[in-house]
Amino acid sequence: MASILRFPREARVGQRPILLSPPELSGNELDEVAQTLRSGWLAPAGPTLAAFEQAVAASMQAPEALALNSGTAALHLAYRVLGVAPGDEVWTTTLTFIATIAPAVQMGATPRFLDVCPQSWTLDPARLRRELAAAARRGRLPRVVVPADLFGQPSDMPAIRAACARWGVPVLSDSACAMGGLQHGRPAGAGADMSVVSFNGNKIITTGGGGALLGDPALLARARHLAHQAREVAAHYQHETTGHNYAMGSVTAAIGLAQLPELERRVIARRAIFRRYQEALGHLPGITFMPEPGWARSSRWLTAMVVDPQRFGADRELIRMALAAQGIESRPVWKPMHLQPAFRDAPRSGGAFAAGLFEDGLCLPSGSGLEAAEQGRVIDAILGVARRG
Ligand SMILES: *Cc1c(COP(=O)(O)O)cnc(C)c1O
Repeated sequence: MASILRFPREARVGQRPILLSPPELSGNELDEVAQTLRSGWLAPAGPTLAAFEQAVAASMQAPEALALNSGTAALHLAYRVLGVAPGDEVWTTTLTFIATIAPAVQMGATPRFLDVCPQSWTLDPARLRRELAAAARRGRLPRVVVPADLFGQPSDMPAIRAACARWGVPVLSDSACAMGGLQHGRPAGAGADMSVVSFNGNKIITTGGGGALLGDPALLARARHLAHQAREVAAHYQHETTGHNYAMGSVTAAIGLAQLPELERRVIARRAIFRRYQEALGHLPGITFMPEPGWARSSRWLTAMVVDPQRFGADRELIRMALAAQGIESRPVWKPMHLQPAFRDAPRSGGAFAAGLFEDGLCLPSGSGLEAAEQGRVIDAILGVARRG
């Protein structure tokens, strides 16, 4: 990982660097991969891939899953299936990762960025209702609304769905980093028209790289067609439209099959890591942690804390640099989309709350394989800054 290379030279030798969210193995990957190789199925088809898709759909309580080579590809296919076209608006939260919106922008859509709510750091249903009513008055409703499940915190799907249903606007849930999270007792993204998960190297379930699109079989059949170069059924190559090469290979799916049974254990591990940070640091003046609304169980994919520099006596950057000096990776809360030069002119609704989180927020090492002694090093380093501050 590039981040290892960026650690300063003075990082203590002999101690393993502590990363934000490194991949963890279940131990069954080699067996699953060997079995798949022996079966002769290497192509993006066959029993391993089908079994993985079924397991992913079951774990997300979705009617069907389409395994793809990234979460970004899944988002792109969703936008195609939903008919996003030049001039359309696509709405998402400003506090997300760029992959949520990049494919829609590349298709000629105009993004509109909505602020998140303080109770969840995800899409604010009240703001969404207001903005949809205003858009209806303007006569320019969005083609799709895309709530993003930040740091493993699911979005409030019943409220978002109800707001969108009133105007007939579909919901695409970017649950890329929220596998294992629950909202109103259901998995992240459940209840949306379509949703997306990612198996990127830093996610809670990883295949090294990959993703899935979830939704009803009719929408997914179209997405599956596009994912395989939009090949029509014919002996020769026949195409009514252009597609993509987005399918997941069987060996990758085998890794995913070995990983999936670990999901619940990993959520419990990440939640325990969050609690330990909160117990060890939550009493410090000026330190608060990402909230969790009563209707949600965050996967706590990443622990995020907010540093009030006045009350804490040091700012977020001082903490981040103190951690880096000890070989510990941390990362500012994602920079909101409305502050990204790429989206300088995009319309938005609010953004001050997300901007504050970017200013003062820090994500701490949260991997499900993080050992107690390693987490102790992170905590001690932050306590050290508190004493100096
Ligand atoms: C990881 C992530 C993505 C992208 O998934 P990839 O599999 O890396 O393409 C998109 N959105 C969010 C919120 C993510 O965390």
